[in-house]
Amino acid sequence: MARPWAMLGAILALGSPLAAAAQAPAPLPADVFARQTVAVTDRVHLIYKPAVTDPPFEGNVVVIEQSQGLVVVDAGGAPVSGRNVVAEIRRISAKPVRWLIYTHYHGDHNLGAGAFRAAWPKVRILSTAATRANMTGPPMDYVKTYARSYGDMAAYAATQAKDEHLPQGLRDGWARTAAAGPGMVAGYSDMRVYPADQTFTDRVSIPDRAAPVEVMFLGRGNTDGDAVVWAPKQKVLASGDLVVAPIPYAAHTYPGEWVDTLKRLEAIDFAYLVPGHGPVETDRTYVDKLIAALGDVRAQVGPLAKADVPLDEVRKRIDLKPLRRAFAGDDPWLGFLFGAVFSGDLVSNAYKEARGEAVIQGKG
Ligand SMILES: [Zn+2]
Repeated sequence: MARPWAMLGAILALGSPLAAAAQAPAPLPADVFARQTVAVTDRVHLIYKPAVTDPPFEGNVVVIEQSQGLVVVDAGGAPVSGRNVVAEIRRISAKPVRWLIYTHYHGDHNLGAGAFRAAWPKVRILSTAATRANMTGPPMDYVKTYARSYGDMAAYAATQAKDEHLPQGLRDGWARTAAAGPGMVAGYSDMRVYPADQTFTDRVSIPDRAAPVEVMFLGRGNTDGDAVVWAPKQKVLASGDLVVAPIPYAAHTYPGEWVDTLKRLEAIDFAYLVPGHGPVETDRTYVDKLIAALGDVRAQVGPLAKADVPLDEVRKRIDLKPLRRAFAGDDPWLGFLFGAVFSGDLVSNAYKEARGEAVIQGKG
């Protein structure tokens, strides 16, 4: 997750005054990006940002302790976030980070990598070739305007928080967003992209007696180059944003291939699934729910798209209420996120897919 908020800022903040964001006391950047650590199993830790459904959205970081060093999955989504993650890693182990693996190119998973370079100069960064191509190309251009976009969004959030026509739960979500705004704007300044040093297309092994690691590309889904990281001895699988909970993320997804990729993911013998965002899962219930949701939307959108019904009309004709309830319950903020980061984009992408049109990373 990450890009939709930049886009939301651009879409929603038309003419809203930046000064409106100043109503709440500004938290320090380090506060809004603060991390906590929890042990998943022996040798595997999750470093997460609490309040996963409030901005700033920050990808999970997984630390796997091998005999001679650490393998880390993702790096935090801003320089200050990377520094927080590095501090948490040092509390887990004195061993150096030897490998940093990016699950995909979205900045909330890799813009903290500079702190890793500073702390462990010999660290090797690994990603799929597709992720490296995205990080060195136009899909990552949004980083340049990230801070401004979040500033605009925070200003818009402050106005929404005061809107008495909105349900209280939604206003509360906007108020939290507005309050985090100054910290995000500060945190998202001076950002630099660190593309991988080494790439792969199918599979890479990082052997170790106690905690071997397999890095795999299972197929397109969340992006065109998602890596999953598997620790077979500990039975822990890190999925990146192929799985995001409690609200999935669908910006530049390939709905049909995503289903196939999730089925391959489910076939791995994991006991613990660490999603790209959200708490550790210990069964396949949520992935099953996600697969069913993708199938539902494809089944509703596909025939209309093939019959040349315009996309706007398709949106009116399909019924997403049961899905919204299944993921968001009665929570107005989660319901808003469901539309903003999942169903809106999923419908567009299913529409393109049914019509044989390409989904292009970073576009549309
Ligand atoms: Zn993410």
